[in-house]
Amino acid sequence: MKLNIVIPCYNEEEVLRETTKQLTALVDAMIEEGLLSACDILYVDDGSKDGTWRMVEEMQPQSHYVHGLKLAHNVGHQNALWAGLSYSVGKCDAAVSIDADLQHDIHKIRDMVLAYQDGFEIVYGIRNDRATDSAFKKRTALSFYRLMQKMGVDLIPNHADFRLLGKNALQALADFPERNLFLRGMVRLLGFKETEVRFDCNDRFAGKSKYTLRKMFNFAIDGITSFSVQPLRVITVIGLLCVGVSVAEMVYILIAYFQGNAIRGWASLLFSVWFLGGLLLFSVGVVGEYIGKIYKEVKRRPRYIIEKQV
Ligand code: UDP
Ligand code: MG
Repeated sequence: MKLNIVIPCYNEEEVLRETTKQLTALVDAMIEEGLLSACDILYVDDGSKDGTWRMVEEMQPQSHYVHGLKLAHNVGHQNALWAGLSYSVGKCDAAVSIDADLQHDIHKIRDMVLAYQDGFEIVYGIRNDRATDSAFKKRTALSFYRLMQKMGVDLIPNHADFRLLGKNALQALADFPERNLFLRGMVRLLGFKETEVRFDCNDRFAGKSKYTLRKMFNFAIDGITSFSVQPLRVITVIGLLCVGVSVAEMVYILIAYFQGNAIRGWASLLFSVWFLGGLLLFSVGVVGEYIGKIYKEVKRRPRYIIEKQV
């Protein structure tokens, strides 16, 4: 079988040589063993500002496996991954997506291929624990999965984008028309036979995380709003509650009036003005988030633009 290994890279010049070295050794061994007949290591340069692409161009002629796609600008991890996966459709029997920084245990690729050969179309790589993460990352990741669960989004905890997709899954995924990509939610919708492989997460080989806090926040919002309309429902419920409160308040005011009590309390009045104002703005914001999504979808702009390939 032919395997594609898809690796999105954003400013990864510090790690690429080592990644290529380790992957090449692994692929050599798998070919020797007869597990694979051929393999492409496909680097997707997500508009890096450093020497990532130059390095891919240098490595390509020296290697049996390395190929590269250069995207014209930074479109984010999910879109870059999509670029590599859709490029692989029809060119391989299965594709593994993995991060460039060697945090994912590359040796599990072998287990994934074995699972594929056993008839599993999708194989998830799942982290055993988060020992190597900072306390902050651990906490944000955990609350992210919990929040997603509350919102009714079907996700596998501790599974990032390290997974194998067979050619049928790849083809099915490529037919998803949506622009707002949240791959780990989308793959769950495919319904093919799936299994998992557990791995220990390493430290980043070199360099810093390319997922800034802002990117993480955007990713979470995208995940929720692409997969759940629960926030809209919450707003409706809060709105109804507010109406209930105001009716009760009206009754209270009338009683107070007939009892001849002067209405006091600027503070409570001001509080409710601000509170309701804030609530309204927030609600409009949430609705706007969804309208923004619709706006993006209807324009049907390309998810990425390929500038060069080797
Ligand atoms: N990445 C990307 N585009 C981006 C940000 C990240 O292609 O805009 C790639 C990055 O090069 C890496 C993978 O996505 O291969 C995961 O990123 P990173 O390791 O920085 O995230 P973390 O492991 O800290 O969550
Ligand atoms: Mg990483």
